[in-house]
Amino acid sequence: MRYSEGADLDPSGVRDRRRGGGMRGGRGVAVGGGGLGLVGVLVLVLFQVLGGGGDGGTGAALGQLSGLAQGETADNGQLEQQCRTGADANESVDCAVVADIESIQDYWAGVLGADYRPTQTVFFNGSVQTACGGATSGSGPFYCPADQLVYIDLSFFDTLQQQFGAQGGLFVNAYVIAHEYAHHVQNLLGINQQVTPGATGPLSGTVRLELQADCFAGAWANHAETVPDESGQPLIAEITQDDVDRALDAAARIGDDFIQANLGSGTVDQDAFSHGTSEQRQRWFLTGYETGDPAQCDTFATDDLG
Ligand SMILES: [Zn+2]
Repeated sequence: MRYSEGADLDPSGVRDRRRGGGMRGGRGVAVGGGGLGLVGVLVLVLFQVLGGGGDGGTGAALGQLSGLAQGETADNGQLEQQCRTGADANESVDCAVVADIESIQDYWAGVLGADYRPTQTVFFNGSVQTACGGATSGSGPFYCPADQLVYIDLSFFDTLQQQFGAQGGLFVNAYVIAHEYAHHVQNLLGINQQVTPGATGPLSGTVRLELQADCFAGAWANHAETVPDESGQPLIAEITQDDVDRALDAAARIGDDFIQANLGSGTVDQDAFSHGTSEQRQRWFLTGYETGDPAQCDTFATDDLG
């Protein structure tokens, strides 16, 4: 994946709330919570899991959160300094995410017109307060419908490789971001409101919502090399077959069956499915990517989810 060298970046889609103000280095944020390390757990679900005490490691983390100060401030100064052009995105993961957010939102604004309302991504490290409650890095990136913000500790990209064994790469990161913005689109369209929070199982609304988000992410990816930014130039110059293969590899490693078998109890329990199997996540990402048509992402219209 390459970004257009001369394209202007606009970090206004980010609220940088990382303590210490900045671009990430090896801070060694502890990432725990075996079963929670999912991409894009809807926060409503997230808190059910935390509240249910299903994960011993996060109980303590939740306790620590109560001591967090409200009204954390954002400081985009460093991103504004360092993420100016597409060339910066080719050099820095942080700047690449800035570009991803811009491209993804430009795409959805084109698809939905005035119905699309841009929103921001909060960069945090360690833990964060949201309108949906507190969360930690171990929860993975998520979207909070109550404040309509995406939250991510960028160390999740390392976790994907180190803990989940994913190949990783800039396009894998972009897939993760696009998946979270898909939840924002679902929120704007009123789709997630039709799903019972916390319901699980192979044909549950939760799984349908998550697979649709993968499909929406693929639809964006199909158009990523052509969707114009404000200046009329695409921010993303090239997505290769290797990039797509890496995204499919990542999708497989965040499938419910893979996580349960390899990072959870070791037993696959379909009734607990919340995001779909590895195969389903790959299938729906590909459906979006190959068709480039969000209308093909109606995971609610079929019981054949793959
Ligand atoms: Zn999700």
